[in-house]
Formats: sequence, structure tokens, C-alpha cells
Amino acid sequence: MPLSAALMRHATYPRRIAWRSAIVGGAFFILFTSLLLNLTWHQRERQHEQLLISSRNALQHTLTSLINNTLNPLLSFSRADCYEINHELTSRAAFSDNLRTILLVNDGYAFCSSATGNLYLPLNMISSQTDLTRDRDLQVLSGVPLPSSKPVLALWLKNAGSIQSGVFATLDLSLTPYQLLASSHPEISGMALVAQKSALTSWQSTAISNRDLPPPLMTLALSGYPLQFVLYGSTLSLNDYQTIILSSILLSLLASALCWLLLSRYQRPGKEILQGIRRGEFHVEYQPLITSHDGQPYGVEALLRWTHPTHGAITPDVFISYAEAQNVIIPLTRHLFQLVARDAHQLCRHTRLGTIMGLNISPLHLASDSFRDDVMHWVDIMPPGHFNYVFEITERTMVREKNAAELFNWLHQRGIKIAIDDFGTGHSALIYLEKYAFDYLKIDRGFVQSIGTETLTSPVLDTVLQLAKKLKMNTVAEGVETGDQAAWLINRGVTHLQGYMFSRPLRPEPLIDYFQLHNS
Ligand code: C2E
Ligand code: CA
Ligand code: CA
Repeated sequence: MPLSAALMRHATYPRRIAWRSAIVGGAFFILFTSLLLNLTWHQRERQHEQLLISSRNALQHTLTSLINNTLNPLLSFSRADCYEINHELTSRAAFSDNLRTILLVNDGYAFCSSATGNLYLPLNMISSQTDLTRDRDLQVLSGVPLPSSKPVLALWLKNAGSIQSGVFATLDLSLTPYQLLASSHPEISGMALVAQKSALTSWQSTAISNRDLPPPLMTLALSGYPLQFVLYGSTLSLNDYQTIILSSILLSLLASALCWLLLSRYQRPGKEILQGIRRGEFHVEYQPLITSHDGQPYGVEALLRWTHPTHGAITPDVFISYAEAQNVIIPLTRHLFQLVARDAHQLCRHTRLGTIMGLNISPLHLASDSFRDDVMHWVDIMPPGHFNYVFEITERTMVREKNAAELFNWLHQRGIKIAIDDFGTGHSALIYLEKYAFDYLKIDRGFVQSIGTETLTSPVLDTVLQLAKKLKMNTVAEGVETGDQAAWLINRGVTHLQGYMFSRPLRPEPLIDYFQLHNS
């Protein structure tokens, strides 16, 4: 890519940096979101597992102590007379927190109840699902043996060695304490104790068939009991999602801001120009200025050149406006001052006293606080008293600079003349001609090139030249390429000429040759 294109690309650097930072922010948002999702997901899974383990342990402890302390000792009474043990049954049921009823069963018949005493009922009429052939069985029932809608846990303990004799107990079990444990987890919507066929749930007051249970989130079996503790809900809560998104937004904004800072710092505007100055990639060429009446050179205009190590020569139209846009025009003009001063010490030995040294000055530099110091320093390092200085400034300067008149006075006091450059290309140019005392009026080469063509430019040029004549101003026509153009201009009173017809801009050595040839 040519550097001019690269420079233009760089000229839009704040927007590019903003874009890049936004892309980095977006990438970090995706990264942070997936990372936080993953971390929170695993953390919640661990918490849910922990919740299940502690709930399961608590329930297991309740069941085991109930069986060992309350129910197992009754097994030996499963063939005793109800009258003898009725009192024992009742007190054990009464003093145990969770026990609702205890029944003694012999040969499949309940014959003694802690609630009603003597009875004779087949146990499968009370709990049809209970498997009496098992040593231990656990079912969830809806309100038996007493009519009640509240579901109970039906526990069967078989007398070892017997066929269908043992102890049957119904337990009032509430999931409320376990729900309390889960209360800090809004993502847990429910819990259930699931037996072989039906389940006790936190969301329904009656037992529910296993077929009607929603898909579980996590399940843990009780060891030694055909019972499972089940959690329902989702791994992450809405709150988790909100926190993750919000944190990701904040973190990615931070990453984006950091990226912006780094890019702004390391992709410094105008870096190439400052680097070019340091590496000595700039030099100056001088284009002779000619007096119309004798065709003799009376001075030069210094034109800056940049030879980039990889991109070659870059035209000043591109790099000057780039330097202005990137705020490095001041260091660049200071560099121009240095280069001109260096060449001037050589040129002064081969040019006449009072030769004009014209420099193009950017309006941005003119408006800066350092301008006067920079100029004084330049004058100090120039060969004393040899050259007459002309600063070429564009109409833009007068539009921008409020203290233009004061600045022009200051320059005049130091013997520096002012040429208004590119005249006719800006706005309201004619007003300034009367307002400020300019020494030279430079007619833009666009006008000069239109001479002899049928465009509308020539009448405009005619008017400008008439006005300049009236104001008794020096006029310099730039870009004079042909004898016809020169003749036309001289005819209309243009006092000075500049253009390829006389000489292209030259380096100091060929310029000295040019002056030696034409100044004799
Ligand atoms: P400018 O001040 O109008 O300079 C005259 C331009 O016309 C120069 O172009 C010069 O090479 C070109 N020129 C001279 N005679 C002819 C001709 O007969 N035919 C044609 N076609 N062109 C001719 P250059 O050197 O490319 O500079 C372009 C512009 O860059 C300058 O226009 C000036 O505005 C700016 N520039 C150049 N050097 C400096 C500098 O040191 N400082 C600042 N601030 N601006 C500079
Ligand atoms: Ca100029
Ligand atoms: Ca011009």
C-alpha cells in the first residue's frame, strides 16, 4: 500500500482505535461470560450437591435413630398380646417426633395399633404398596391409616425369620426444614422424597405418583433405604445470569478501556512523521522565484520533501495535511527551520545579499504559543543578515487567527515579509487584501494553469490582478509552465513568477549552479 494511503488510513486512527477497542471489548465480553458461566455453574452444582448431602444425612439420621431406638425394640413384640404392649406402643409413638402410628403385624395382619389399640386388619388394606416379604420397605402414602390428606412415609420392618410379621409405622415427614436449607438458592424450585412408586414433594400437599414428577435437577439415594432425595429447578438462577452479564459488561468495558489506552499510547498519532524527523528522512528543495521584468531569480521558496525508507517519496500535499491533522506540524516546521538553516549557511556564499527565502507556514503553527519563540530561534541560527525572509501563509490563517493583525505586525517588526499563498482558493479572499498589509500575493497555480483555456477562471484572475495592481502589491504567479502563460501574466502586471518553466524545486547543489548561471 502506498504510504499516502497508509497515512490516510492512519488519519482516521481515533475511529480505528475506537473500533478495535470495541472489538476487543466484545471478545472479552464473550470470554468473560463463558468463563463466569462455567465457574458459577460448577459452583452452584457443588452447592446443590452439598445441599443434597446434608439433607440426605439429616433424614438418614432421623430414620436410623427412629428405627434403632424406637421401632427395632418392638420387633420382639410382634407376636405378643396387644393388651400387654398397647401402652408401650402408644408411649413410643407419642414420644417420637415424627411417628404418627405404630402397628404390630402378625402373619400379614395388623393386630395392635398405637392409636386405636386392638384391631385385626390385613396390612395390605392399610398400605397396599408395602411389600411384607422384604426386611425393610419404605413407601409414600396419602393419609393412612387415619383419614388425612397429609402424605406419610410408611415404614415396614420385618421380624427376621418370620414370614409376614413385624412392625409397621407411619411417619409424618415434612420437607420444610430441608427447604429452609435451600432458601438461599432461588434456583431450587422444589424438593421431593421419592420412594419406589410415589413421592412426597414440597409443592403438593398429597403424595404424587413418580410418573408425574418433573425432570430432576439432582438426585441422591439414601443408603440402606429405597428412598431418594431429589432437587428440582435449574442450576443457575435469573439472578446468577444477571450478575454474570453485568460483571462481564463491566469487565469487558474495562478491557476495552485498557485496549483504548494502550492503542492510543503506542499507535501515537503522527508517529511516522516524528520517526522520519529522527531518522533524517526529510530534506528541503528550493524553487527559484523570478522577477518578471528581467527573468532573474530573486529568491527561493523552500519546499519540504519526505523520502520514506519503504514507501519512497511522499508528496507534501499528503504529509503536510496529515501532520496538521495529527498535531505534529509544529515539530515538523521546527525541523524545516533546522534544515533550511543548515542549507542556508551553504547557500549564502553563492547568492546575492537580500535573496528571498520563502517558507510555507501552517496556520496551526502560527496560532500556537510557541510560534514566536520558534521564529526567533530560527532567525538566530540563520546566517545573519544575508537573506530576506518571506512567510507564505494561506487564507485559512486569517479566518482562524483572531490576532492575525498583531501577529503580522510582529513579523514585520522582525523584517519578515508575508505572502498570501494559494490566493483565490479560499473564501472571501478579497476582503483580506484590504484588511491586512501583505507583501506578496501568490496566485495559485490552478489559476495559472487555466490561462488560455475557456474556463471561467481567467476573468476571476483578471479581476484579482487588477485589484492587486490598484493596491500596489507584489504578485507572484505560481506554476508557470509555458511562455504563453508567462507572457499573459506579465502583460497583466504580475511582478514575479515561479514555475517549472524556470526551474523545478532543486536541492542546494543544483540550486547554487542555477544561481551562478542566472545571476551573472
Ligand atoms: P505551494 O505552497 O503552493 O507550493 C507550490 C507547489 O507547486 C509545490 O508543490 C511546487 O513543487 C509546485 N510547483 C511549482 N512549480 C510548478 C509548476 O510549474 N507546475 C506544477 N504542476 N507544479 C509546480 P509541492 O512541493 O508538492 O508542495 C505542495 C504543497 O505542500 C505546497 O504548495 C505547500 O502548500 C505544501 N508544502 C510544501 N512544503 C511545505 C512546508 O515546508 N511547510 C508547509 N507548511 N507546507 C509545505
Ligand atoms: Ca507556497
Ligand atoms: Ca499553491
